[in-house]
Amino acid sequence: MSEDVAARVEQLRDQIRYHAYRYYVLDDPVISDAEYDALVHELERLEAEHPELVTPDSPTQRVGAPPSEQFRPVRHRRPLFSLDDISSFEELAAWEERIERILGRVPDGYVCEPKIDGLAVVLTYENGVFTLGATRGDGTVGEDITANLRTIKAIPLRLLTDDPPTLLEVRGEVYMPLDAFEELNRRQEEAGERLFVNPRNAAAGSVRQKDPSVTASRDLSIWCYQVGIIEGGPELSRHSEAMEYIKGLGLRVNPETRTVPDLDGVEDYLTEAEKRRHERPYQTDGAVVKVDSLADQATLGFTARAPRWAVAYKFPPEEATTRLLDIKVNVGRTGAVTPYAVLEPVFVGGANISSATLHNEDEVRRKDLRIGDLVVVRRAGDVIPEVVAPVVSARTGDEKVWHMPKTCPFCASPIVRPEGEKVARCTGGYSCPSRLREWLFYFGSRAGMDIDGLGYKTIDLLIREGLIRDPADIFFLRPDQLLGFEGWGEVSVANLMRAIEAAKDRPVAQLLTALGIRHVGDSVARLLARRYRSIRALMDAPEEELADIEGIGPVIARSVREWFDDPDNRALIDKLDAAGVRLEDEDVEAGVPSDLLDGVTVVITGTLDGFTREEAEDAVVARGGRATGSVSKKTTVLVVGEHPGASKVRKAEELGVPTIDEETFERLLTDGPSVLES
Ligand code: NAD
Repeated sequence: MSEDVAARVEQLRDQIRYHAYRYYVLDDPVISDAEYDALVHELERLEAEHPELVTPDSPTQRVGAPPSEQFRPVRHRRPLFSLDDISSFEELAAWEERIERILGRVPDGYVCEPKIDGLAVVLTYENGVFTLGATRGDGTVGEDITANLRTIKAIPLRLLTDDPPTLLEVRGEVYMPLDAFEELNRRQEEAGERLFVNPRNAAAGSVRQKDPSVTASRDLSIWCYQVGIIEGGPELSRHSEAMEYIKGLGLRVNPETRTVPDLDGVEDYLTEAEKRRHERPYQTDGAVVKVDSLADQATLGFTARAPRWAVAYKFPPEEATTRLLDIKVNVGRTGAVTPYAVLEPVFVGGANISSATLHNEDEVRRKDLRIGDLVVVRRAGDVIPEVVAPVVSARTGDEKVWHMPKTCPFCASPIVRPEGEKVARCTGGYSCPSRLREWLFYFGSRAGMDIDGLGYKTIDLLIREGLIRDPADIFFLRPDQLLGFEGWGEVSVANLMRAIEAAKDRPVAQLLTALGIRHVGDSVARLLARRYRSIRALMDAPEEELADIEGIGPVIARSVREWFDDPDNRALIDKLDAAGVRLEDEDVEAGVPSDLLDGVTVVITGTLDGFTREEAEDAVVARGGRATGSVSKKTTVLVVGEHPGASKVRKAEELGVPTIDEETFERLLTDGPSVLES
């Protein structure tokens, strides 16, 4: 054995002791669980390879951490354990093999339960009365937190039975539901207090309070998952039976607890549990698998720190700590200046993360993030990565407070933040290269003109080579300008040219969206296109007229007006026109007068046979009419299809608005409002 190994083992033990103390005693960890687990696993591996190095005080030989002096110590009647953890089905199979070696057969059933991410507690009931509640502590001695646990409504103070066992010791996990956690952090923030990093931390901090009224003010609950001791009660032979029994006594047992016959059943459960991880209103970090037969459990027994009859299957970690190297800003297509975190790369939520948006200046302030901080990064499911909070206790004093820059790092124009707005903006207009780049990307994206192949790489090349300065330039590109650049051969150039050509013929709504006018997304663009059908008509529409369109309103109207009042933007439209980009929607049907339904406002309810709702509304608009969503005094007629909305029909009756069926509607579209008179 080399001295290096012995030194590393000692080093690991020191680190693990330190982090266990921060986590269990102070409720203030400075590294993520995954990082902590990695230290423990390395120590376990080294000790397994060098058994002579194992000492009784090694963290691998014990559970948790000694209790804090804040509470009265409680010696547990029977020690409390940790769980060995696994993260793959191979390890699961290996676990069953070990069991099989000891029992001489595989167990006749397993119980699977969610692994709740909270604080382990033990509840003691004597003759049906709750007499003692304690934390796990180091497994042998915990802390007396009876007064605090009595404030949790989900913990019965008396069991729901006339025939209680003389002694019942139940183990469970106190947790904070996700919405309570968010609410608590909101209150903490308002009061200028420290934010909790995650629900586990919040639950642990709330339970281990000197003043029980603080615990009472926090919305905590419990799931019970184990009978530790039972005396003077029924004979229990299976874990599943024990869970049913305590459920009957009024203790909360998780409804996702399942008994399965074999390892296949376990695997199905684990797959499902992981898939549904984000659907639960509380946090889980895995699932626990237990041998159901209590006789088998007794045969299997325990290692120094964990039972052999249970195992924790851990989900991949979604939180990690890393260094916040810098805070930089992006300028988006609307000129919005958005700060983002530059992170030391870290693997979390199944991906490597090296940056994360910080949204706006207030957000950076709110979280008190400083450059150089150790930070907690979270990436859960499909959610974009988030910098949750700084690890304040790890600060050295060298961290730097960040301020929004006064000038744009891309074009040196002033950055301004209008009074009362959250978002700061670059004032450089489209001369700002970052803004132009984002605009072009958006212009060519699916939501915009859908130009296949116009990604950031191509855009960067085109800007760098001075080939485009605004979106209209895209349509003037010639193949010979691109040929010869690295990666641009005949085929790729021809493909891009074809995609650009196709984009000249998009519907007006798509072009409008692509222009990137503030507040004009896909659905607003459709409303505008429906009403005006052409960019030229929209360009000169008065603000009041725009604001009057159902679903538009004054803010959008002003934004549209401002955009089209800018001479640069008007020039851009002319340039798009010159490039051959279509600025007008075709008539829905040729030969229909476009003012046939002038002054007519139609509301449609229910489904029609021959039209989708959108087609029907488009047909009205194409004839100069208006299609709105709710019946009012201004409504000319209500079209009633299958399964109409009762309230619309009632409203029409009240206001004396005529109702028509689909057939009459079709005649309205061909013959005009005269059909309503008959
Ligand atoms: P563990 O993850 O090994 O599992 C045991 C615990 O799981 C039990 O004590 C119980 O509280 C809980 N549990 C939840 N649902 C359960 C169920 N259905 N059945 C049985 N038990 C259930 O817990 P541990 O021993 O406290 O181990 C350490 C955990 O704490 C790890 O996740 C580790 O990463 C974390 N930790 C982190 C740090 C840090 O610095 N970040 C330090 C110490 C420990």
